Amino acid sequence: MRVLLVEDDQRIVDFVQRGLKAEGYIVEVARSGLEAIALGTEGKFQIIILDLGLPDLNGRQVCEHLRNAGVDTPILMLTARDTVQDKVTGLRSGADDYMTKPFAFEELLARIEVLMRRGGGKIKPEVKELQIADLILNMETHEVRRGEKLVDLTPKEFALLEYFMRMPGKLLSRTRILEQVWGYSSDPLTNVVDVYIRQLRRKIDDDHDVKLLITVRGYGYKLDAQQGMRI
Ligand code: CA
Repeated sequence: MRVLLVEDDQRIVDFVQRGLKAEGYIVEVARSGLEAIALGTEGKFQIIILDLGLPDLNGRQVCEHLRNAGVDTPILMLTARDTVQDKVTGLRSGADDYMTKPFAFEELLARIEVLMRRGGGKIKPEVKELQIADLILNMETHEVRRGEKLVDLTPKEFALLEYFMRMPGKLLSRTRILEQVWGYSSDPLTNVVDVYIRQLRRKIDDDHDVKLLITVRGYGYKLDAQQGMRI
């Protein structure tokens, strides 16, 4: 079992590393947010223990980066403070659990075990295909199929669909889509998102009874097999 420990405080690194090694875990340490993102996106860990206070980015930003990059490794967030607001923002950024420092090692271990059970704790094979309902996107061949039918997408439509398929069921705002797919941080062009969504929808949904690309009025879009209807 591989654990990524993201912490800049050497005393905590020593304490956690020693304990986990004794339990048979392999522990790698990242001491900054950027290092954590670089290591975390490699996908070789079964759990990430992420301190909120880091020298560069904070733990929430790291968590958001990892989730936006499609990393679904369970994340246990550590913080020195114990406020409801911290907990809520931590969980909203994509963390699976939350623990306040100082903590007893036994508690850390128990929480890791729970997260492992929940997350399966298995090393996933390299993912080549993403699938939602009968829509399949192959990242190697760049082929997209809905049912039996091959869907012909432009590179930008493909990138947009891949982003949605990495976040199944998640509500994504135009601004976020623009940032992640087009790389813009300001939004003079948000309407470009609507235009591309329309094109994409025509190609993947129009000939099918079950609609996957859902509009959530006033907010954005999501790709969801559960609702199966267009709002
Ligand atoms: Ca720290």
